[in-house]
Amino acid sequence: MTARLIDGKALAASVRAETATRAAALAATGRQPALAVILVGENAASQVYVRNKVAACEQAGIRSIHETYPAAMREGELLARIHALNADDSVHGILVQLPLPAHIDAQRVIEAISPRKDVDGFHVASAGALLVGRDGFRPCTPLGCMRMLEHIGMRSLRGLHAVVVGRSNIVGKPLALMLLEADATVTIAHSGTPDLAATCRGADVLVAAVGRPRLITGAMVKPGAVVLDVGINRLPDGSLCGDVDFASASQVAGWITPVPGGVGPMTIAMLLANTVQACETA
Ligand code: NAP
Repeated sequence: MTARLIDGKALAASVRAETATRAAALAATGRQPALAVILVGENAASQVYVRNKVAACEQAGIRSIHETYPAAMREGELLARIHALNADDSVHGILVQLPLPAHIDAQRVIEAISPRKDVDGFHVASAGALLVGRDGFRPCTPLGCMRMLEHIGMRSLRGLHAVVVGRSNIVGKPLALMLLEADATVTIAHSGTPDLAATCRGADVLVAAVGRPRLITGAMVKPGAVVLDVGINRLPDGSLCGDVDFASASQVAGWITPVPGGVGPMTIAMLLANTVQACETA
C-alpha cells in the first residue's frame, strides 16, 4: 500500500486564509487582533521561529508586537513586561519564545500570562481546561494534528486506537487528551514502553513526537493507519527529517504527514487562529 499524503503546507495555507478573513472582519469593527511575541537572548533557532511567527501575523492581518531583550534580562523585568501586556486591551495574545535563559523560571513566566491571552496554550489554566473539557486555548501543535485528522474526515475517532509516542507537556500529553476528547482509545508511549513496535502496530492513528530521527519504521505501522509525524530533526548534512522513516512507513500507512511540510506549518497556522479567537472573545 502507498499512503496518501496529508499536505500540512496546503492545509495550513487554508487555515491562514480563513484566519485572515476573520482578522479582517474584526479590523473592520475597529478591533485588529494583536499578538505580542517576546524573545529573550540570542538563540539562533528561536530568532528564526520568532521571525516566522511575526511574518505570518503580518500576512494574516494580525498586528505583531515584536520585543527582543538581552539574555541578561532579569526575571522581574520580564514579569513586569508581561503584566503590562496583560493590562493592554489592544493586545490579545502573548507569546514568550522558549527556551528562556537558565536564570529565568520559564514556568513562572508562562503562569504570569493571562489565560485569556495564553495563545500558546501552555498556562496551567489552559492545560486544566483541556483536562476537564472546558473552553480554553489548546497548544498549537496538537491542535494542528487534530485539524489534520478532521481534514481527512476523522473528526470522530470512536472505535479507533490512537498511540502517541512522546509525553511532553506541549505535544504528547495535550494531544493524548484531545484524541480522547474525539473518542479514541488512547495509549501514550515513551522511553519506558517495553515493546514500542508492538504498541505502535496496534495504532489506527499513530503520532510520533519524540525527537529521534526515523525511530518509527514501516514495520511498526499497522497497514492503513494514519501516521502523523511531529518530529523535526536536523541531520548532520543539514537536512530535516521526522521521527518517522517516511520511505518505509509510507509503504504501509493509509495516510502520512511529510517532514518538512507536515505538522510544522500547522503549528503557526493554529497560533494565528488562537490569536484571532482571543480577539473575538476578548
Ligand atoms: P521532548 O520533550 O523532547 O520529549 C520527547 C519524548 O519522547 C519523551 O516523552 C521521551 O520519553 C520520548 N522518547 C524519547 N526516546 C524515545 C524512544 N526511544 N522510544 C519512545 N519514546 C521515546 O518532546 P517534544 O518537545 O514534544 O518534541 C518532540 C519532537 O517534536 C522534537 O523533534 C521537536 O523538535 C518536535 N516538535 C515539533 C513541533 C512542530 O511544530 N512540528 C512542535 C514541538 C515539537 P520520556 O518521557 O520517557 O523521556
